[in-house]
Order: sequence, then C-alpha cells, then structure tokens
Amino acid sequence: MRYTAETTRYDAMEYRRAGESGLKLPALSLGLWHNFGSEADERETTAMVEAAFDRGITHFDLANNYGPPPGSAEERFAGILKDRLARYRDELIISTKAGYLMWDGPYGEWGSRKHLVSSLEQSLKRLGLEYVDIFYHHRPDPNTPLEETAEALSHLVRQGKALYVGISNYKAREAKRIIELLKAAKTPCVLNQVRYSLLDRSIEADGLLDAMGNRAGTICFSPLAQGLLSSKYLGGTIPAESRAKEDRFLKQKMITAEHVQLLNELDAIAQKRGQSLSQMAIGWLLRDERITSVLIGARSVAQLNENIDALETNAPFTEVEIEAIDAVVRRWR
Ligand code: NDP
Repeated sequence: MRYTAETTRYDAMEYRRAGESGLKLPALSLGLWHNFGSEADERETTAMVEAAFDRGITHFDLANNYGPPPGSAEERFAGILKDRLARYRDELIISTKAGYLMWDGPYGEWGSRKHLVSSLEQSLKRLGLEYVDIFYHHRPDPNTPLEETAEALSHLVRQGKALYVGISNYKAREAKRIIELLKAAKTPCVLNQVRYSLLDRSIEADGLLDAMGNRAGTICFSPLAQGLLSSKYLGGTIPAESRAKEDRFLKQKMITAEHVQLLNELDAIAQKRGQSLSQMAIGWLLRDERITSVLIGARSVAQLNENIDALETNAPFTEVEIEAIDAVVRRWR
C-alpha cells in the first residue's frame, strides 16, 4: 500500500537551527549506523523510517560504510526512499559521510580530495540521489592538510552534490580551523557531529560546545551510549537481540555488576522524573540549547517511539537532578 505521511507530523517536534545557518533540524534525528544494512529485516527498517517521519523526524543520517556490509545501509535507505518517501524528498535532510575505511588501497579512507570526491560519487549512486543535504568529513585526518579537505568539501558543494557540509569527530581546535577555512570559501559548514551522552563527557573536557559557539551546530551521536542508557541491561543480563551480544562496538565486558548498579541508580532518577532511562538520557542532552539535534539509533519501532516520547515526558531538569546524575556518573569507571 502506498505510504502517506501523518498530517500531524510537524505538530509536536521541535526544530533547532544549526549554528547560524538557515538550516533547521529536528531535535531528534535518526541514525542508520546499525540495523539498516542488507542483513536487517526490511519491513522493520521501512517501518522505522516511516514511524520517524510520521513524528517529525526529517533528518536521516548515513555514512558510506554503514551496513553491514558497508554501503548497504545507503542502498536499503535508497529503496525506502524510492518506494515510500520519494514525494517527500524536499521535506528530508539526508546526510552521508566519508573518511573511515571503505575500499582497498590508499584512497579508500581519510581526508584527501581523492577519497572525498570518489566516496560521495559512490554514495550518490547507492542512494539513487543527485545530491545529499549534508556531506560530512567523518573523522579528522592527521596526514592531509585541512586546506585540502576543506577545498574538496567546497568543490562538492559548488558541484551541487551536497547542499551543506559537516565535520565529525573533530576536536575543538581543528574544528575551529576547518570551519574558518570553509567560511572563507563561502562553504556552509553547518554541523560538528560528536559523541556525547550523560555517560561520555569527553567533549565537555575539550571545551567543544563553547568553541563551536555559533560557528556551527552540534549534533550528538550515541546518546544512549549504544544502548547502555536504556532499560535493556538493567536486569544484569545481555539480551539475545542487543548490541552487547554482538560484542563489537559495545563490549560485553561493559555489562559488569558495578555498571548495572549505576545504571539502575540512573533509572531510579529517571523514574522519579516520570521517564524511562533512555528518555532521561535524551532529555539531558536536549536541555543544552547548543545541541542542535540528538542522533538516535533504534532496532525496532517500539524503541524508536519510546525515544521520541522523550520530547513529551521531558521536564526541565532541577539542579538536584543534575547533581544526582553527575554523582552517579562520577563513579563510572
Ligand atoms: P544510541 O546510543 O542511541 O544507541 C542505539 C542503540 O541503543 C539501538 O540500536 C538499540 O540497540 C539501543 N536502544 C535504542 N533505544 C532503545 C530503547 N528505547 N530501549 C532499549 N534499547 C534501545 O545511538 P548509536 O550509537 O546507534 O548512534 C546513533 C547514530 O549516530 C548512528 O546511527 C549514526 O547515524 C551516528 N553515529 C555517528 C558516528 C560518527 O563517527 N559520526 C559514530 C556512531 C554513531 P540494541 O537493541 O541493538 O541493543
């Protein structure tokens, strides 16, 4: 049956401006790193994309290497776009990235002009698109001059293959530098995509949010610390369907008795707020206006909806709650 998006889809979502640009992103965006490759259930992936859009999530985040296998998340998304969402293309912000290992040889990764131009060409073919809305440099490259990376990104915008560019995993100093280079070239660098959650505060130590100021927006990935900040591990076991079970990006050794105890303490704070742990983790990030969007991942429509409900269950955090959360996190080793 033909898909028709909910007419109410823009009613409850909040949209935040990326830095000083004209681009607004939903407070929650959907990432397709896991669970959207060719091995994932096609019906569930389609249902998740539709459920997200039905609730105002206009931004879908990809990368050349998302799968597994690498490239297949872009292909899966292309199918959904073509079959279900094609007529809504102008309501969507679709991003992809290049920088991590994608193909053999010296040009298959990092930040050279050769890698970035070739990779975006490949991504556009897989996505069946003429342009992406945001093209990111996925990680800083210590061996390529920032000038070359910035020039390659500018070139792709001038060619019309990306409307905006972004950077990812850049620390404050190098982020400021490349944004200056891009600004000088009149290339709109709208976002820095970084790992940030109430458990992972490394960007705070780097002073990144202050350094960004209005230069570019900040979009946070792994807001649930890859699922740790959910009800999934509160019982101390590792469910069959979980990222920890795969033992790759979230290691099983993280699910220790000490960590489970601390997660339960965080859950108790969430419950007092009338939220699930994942909803509190998302709300905690959104309380900072410098965060443009929180990039969530999901395995099912049920998880996705629980996370989007964070927008409804969220209330301003009191100082007591913030301090209680920080006191638990300080004990995390
Ligand atoms: P999260 O920290 O939100 O983890 C998502 C995972 O947590 C899900 O796949 C699911 O895992 C579990 N989960 C989510 N919601 C619930 C729930 N309500 N109840 C129980 N479990 C839940 O984010 P990701 O680490 O997936 O990152 C999000 C996006 O950020 C990525 O898709 C990608 O777009 C981007 N990203 C960018 C990076 C970069 O270098 N720029 C790096 C990493 C991510 P499961 O059920 O499988 O256990």
